Amino acid sequence: MSPPPRPGPSLDRLSPIIADAPLTSAPAASASATPPPERLAPHQRARPMAKGTTRPAKDLCSDCGLCDTRWVAYVRQACAFLEQRFEAMEIAAHGRSRDLDREDELYFGVQQRMLTARLRQPIDGAQWTGIVSRIGVRALETGLVDAVLCVGQSPEDRFTPVPRLARTPQEVLEARVNKPTLSPNLEVLEQLPGSGIKRLLAIGVGCQVQALRAVQATLPLDQLYVLGLPCVDNVSREGLQTFLESASRSAATVVHYEFMQDFRIHFRHSDGSTETVPFFGLDTPRLKDVFAPSCLSCFDYTNAGADLVVGYMGAGFGSQWITVRNALGQQLLDLVEGELETGPVFSAGDRRQAVQQGIGAYDKAVRLPMALAELVGFFVKRFGPKGLEYGRFSIDSHFTRNALWLRRNHPAIAERHIPAFAKRIIAAYRLPES
Ligand SMILES: Cc1cc2nc3c(=O)[nH]c(=O)nc-3n(C[C@H](O)[C@H](O)[C@H](O)COP(=O)(O)OP(=O)(O)OC[C@H]3O[C@@H](n4cnc5c(N)ncnc54)[C@H](O)[C@@H]3O)c2cc1C
Ligand code: SF4
Ligand code: SF4
Repeated sequence: MSPPPRPGPSLDRLSPIIADAPLTSAPAASASATPPPERLAPHQRARPMAKGTTRPAKDLCSDCGLCDTRWVAYVRQACAFLEQRFEAMEIAAHGRSRDLDREDELYFGVQQRMLTARLRQPIDGAQWTGIVSRIGVRALETGLVDAVLCVGQSPEDRFTPVPRLARTPQEVLEARVNKPTLSPNLEVLEQLPGSGIKRLLAIGVGCQVQALRAVQATLPLDQLYVLGLPCVDNVSREGLQTFLESASRSAATVVHYEFMQDFRIHFRHSDGSTETVPFFGLDTPRLKDVFAPSCLSCFDYTNAGADLVVGYMGAGFGSQWITVRNALGQQLLDLVEGELETGPVFSAGDRRQAVQQGIGAYDKAVRLPMALAELVGFFVKRFGPKGLEYGRFSIDSHFTRNALWLRRNHPAIAERHIPAFAKRIIAAYRLPES
């Protein structure tokens, strides 16, 4: 039998892993039940960690919010940076783990179907066309769920995330658009007991979803739906400032930006104007240290644990890209499918040479003069990878970079932290010496 989860966050090193603790080991909690102390589940005896204290994952912490709740009791198995449990998570959530011999699953995870889509009536101010917000709205309107875990913004700063349990469609809509910074989404789990929320839709990025899945069976919920976003290269609020100042002509007025499939960053400013900058013109030497260490050690780009994933990188320019992982994901998509223009996924070009060249250039922190960056951008946009091949280009580039970063900065944990699917992807490339 596996050992029970150990309560308490008092970890003094990075990897005190309970290797075979089951993901669903603790009994379901009830907000009203008060069993004798010896029969309380670990989270019923635990307290949230104080804000600002060092987290168990130390510098690798992505501030997912779990440690701000009583469910910190399970941090050793739940934290994406203390232990990687992709296979167990996929089996628990989807009934099976990804088939590493199928290229689409190797790259994009367990799936029933993939498609491209746009809302026929896009939501003004959304990150893309607003499919995520629309699903959240419909989930509440149809009574599928009682609340939606989403991320609003601070009244003082558009880029400072404020996680919330939205109870009305209006609150979901107010949370539209990315706050492209680390967000403690799971801190709101602390509000669940006594809230009357029994059916929850949680929107989140991979590290948040890994922790959520690990504690799912102990939450006071009858039903959980998980709507995932792909995610890479996230930053702290200070890191975001450095990025904006280095990449945009006017950091102070940026209200929205996205790395798009045309190999350019598209900025929108508060006066309504737009600005685009080629990826290849970024100030790599300055930006190498901007990404959070959590994100430089992350391989959950495509959000393996979500029921449904809505991103863009596997779609053509201007479209969104949807991966349905299981029946719950299809149920979420059913809420809006009639409002979408949909199309099949496609793939064009060959990423491999560009990825291999990019590994060396990034490692040496090469910065191209802007005129040359524009020229390279023009040719790559014209002849480079498109659709799913663009997605694979981005995954290959980030997985190789992250593997190298881990081997250099955390050699003791690198090999067990890199999941099997990422190892197989990385093996196709020559990496610089660690
Ligand atoms: C940090 C980050 C990085 C991303 N990187 C990629 C990528 O590399 N490739 C790709 O294909 N897609 C990526 N995405 C997803 C993509 O940018 C869009 O969010 C997605 O396609 C949904 O667009 P939408 O118009 O439907 O969303 P909207 O309807 O505008 O809704 C956006 C949702 O995002 C949630 N959200 C906002 N900020 C955060 C946050 N910091 N953490 C968790 N949830 C948040 C909000 O709750 C909101 O519900 C990323 C998203 C984030 C937040
Ligand atoms: S990533 Fe989440 S679970 Fe891990 S240490 Fe940080 S807050 Fe805690
Ligand atoms: S890149 Fe990974 S670790 Fe960083 S916020 Fe996104 S999912 Fe979390």
